[in-house]
Amino acid sequence: MLYNNLSGYLRAKYGKRMKKICIDGGFCCPNRDGKCGTVGCIYCGERGAGEHIDPTLSIGEQVRAALSAATADTLFIAYFQNFTNTYAPIQVLRERYDAALIDPRIRILSVGTRPDCIDEEVCALLAEYSKTREVWVELGLQTSSDLTADRINRGYHLDTFERAWGLLKKYSLKTVIHLIIGLPGEGDEESRASAEYVAALSPFGVKLHSIYVMRDTALAEMYRQNLYTPPTLDEYASRAAYALSVMPESVVIHRLTGDCPEGELVAPEWNKDKNKIIAHVNATLEGEGHRQGSRAKK
Ligand code: SF4
Repeated sequence: MLYNNLSGYLRAKYGKRMKKICIDGGFCCPNRDGKCGTVGCIYCGERGAGEHIDPTLSIGEQVRAALSAATADTLFIAYFQNFTNTYAPIQVLRERYDAALIDPRIRILSVGTRPDCIDEEVCALLAEYSKTREVWVELGLQTSSDLTADRINRGYHLDTFERAWGLLKKYSLKTVIHLIIGLPGEGDEESRASAEYVAALSPFGVKLHSIYVMRDTALAEMYRQNLYTPPTLDEYASRAAYALSVMPESVVIHRLTGDCPEGELVAPEWNKDKNKIIAHVNATLEGEGHRQGSRAKK
């Protein structure tokens, strides 16, 4: 096996593939509401991800719709996707998570968030949920470079991530770290540095996102003004393959691409074909004689 992928992990643990229920929990983001920024990260769309989710549905309605569309023996991951899903008072978080966890077939609670929205209280709450089901905390780090973090208007620096990481470790919470390959100003060197940084942490999981320029974002404006050029598919595959090769074998690779919402893609064109991207990364890794962990520090 070239890498330790998510479907393999789920099959080994639960005996079958699982469906992800992407949930818009009605949260906001401190990088948009003025707490640490007002315009958000330069690649972020108006919905803060999860654009395919019907925003008029309650959490319960979103979950019930997914449950009823699947066969009775399907298991599920409840994934709070849009914006920052730990950015609310604890009681609100509890209510919203409970509104999703309405069926015993939902075996995993996954929460997408930012490191500056992780504190002791949040960790204690998530640790409570982890007593009855698997819990994943998904952190959008994207890069280990503070210079790039400022360039993409991420709104926090690496020291904030490291504080959150320490807390998540303290509470034994499974963490999935997101990296974006191809951010403005980043080439092979920066991409490798981020991958090596994350590899050294040896998190539960990693998501590698191929960058895409989405309509009506600050990145789209940079692209229009020729201030940003996305990587080619070859460049992406080479950087992703390197990232896989430095990741310890235990790290579960949750994804290898980024999905732009239908009709919203400005560039690069290759981002439309997810299967082609994955095949290209696999071929690059294999062609270089590597696999996940082959360059990992022992
Ligand atoms: S942290 Fe996430 S939701 Fe907030 S602005 Fe950045 S990408 Fe968007």
